[in-house]
Amino acid sequence: MVTFLAGGTGTPKLLDGAEAAFDPATITAVANTGDDVELGGLLVCPDLDTVLFRGGGVLDRETWWGIDDDTTATHAELGRIAAAAGLDDGPRYLPPDRQTAGRRLARWRRFSGVAEFMEIGDRDRAVHLTRTSLLDEGSTLTEATHRLSDAFDLTVDLLPMSDDPVATIVHTEAGAMHFQEYWVARRAAPAVEDVEFRGAASADPTPAVRDALDGPVVIGPSNPVTSVGPIRALPGVEAALDDTPVVAVSPFIEDQVFSGPAADLMRGVGLDPSTAGVAEAYPFADAFVLDDADGTALDRPVVRTDTRIDGPDDARRVTRAVADALAEVR
Ligand code: GDP
Repeated sequence: MVTFLAGGTGTPKLLDGAEAAFDPATITAVANTGDDVELGGLLVCPDLDTVLFRGGGVLDRETWWGIDDDTTATHAELGRIAAAAGLDDGPRYLPPDRQTAGRRLARWRRFSGVAEFMEIGDRDRAVHLTRTSLLDEGSTLTEATHRLSDAFDLTVDLLPMSDDPVATIVHTEAGAMHFQEYWVARRAAPAVEDVEFRGAASADPTPAVRDALDGPVVIGPSNPVTSVGPIRALPGVEAALDDTPVVAVSPFIEDQVFSGPAADLMRGVGLDPSTAGVAEAYPFADAFVLDDADGTALDRPVVRTDTRIDGPDDARRVTRAVADALAEVR
């Protein structure tokens, strides 16, 4: 049994190799839900869905979100209607009193569907509709995710980190905003002052997540602040990680990030944007996988390989390094 903590790019890339190296039936992926939003009444879970679509063989591997070759007719029409009606394109938050009314799971991240500031494909939307309807019928997010996993023929066990609301709020020079406003609407432009995981202190990791954290854990090359941060902010998760073998793959080569806003976010929370900063952020990691070109000296065992993952062969190579690192610390 092995558990991967997943955001929406680095760890899903690694999972391509993990399925080859480990028996898929023994792999659990715990996905961050701090990035989730309610958009036009539908709960959108980007990190869960990247793992879901990858496992189902339908992921758009150019963007690492959405379904390959999906159409966007509904999204385009939402934009057309909003423009014709003189409605600005947002992001359009629901009013403050509505942020904590309605669906509890959507707290602090409820957006109107007018103009739809995130691009939701047509087939992608069917997933959000099914998930939200299952929640309305009384399912937990964990149960709804299991149903969707069946629909996409997943071999790995995919779990949301929690069935409670946790919202990643980025505090910036331009004010506080949900992560999706910071990343999708503002392209990470405003300087980051702090990152808050609203709700985390009173959210619980699910029983399935607690069980999954009893075995060895792999933290793929995901964003330490906004992908791994919400998971570790849940009560009990850090203690569980302290007590179990943990291997982390760096999303950096020294101070060069592979992609995305990890460096700006790390700087914003006072971490050095580098492999050294990742190691500081993960005191519970027992070993690291670093790139061959990464000379960072760490106080824990290191296995080096080429950590760029551009396809299944790369993913298998990095997974072998992860397995070697795990063997050193188990
Ligand atoms: P997000 O939810 O889309 O932000 O995705 P994650 O948090 O899962 O992954 C983002 C991180 O993946 C970024 O910090 C990148 O540096 C890292 N990353 C992307 N591609 C690669 C790669 O090929 N190799 C490694 N080592 N890291 C990568």
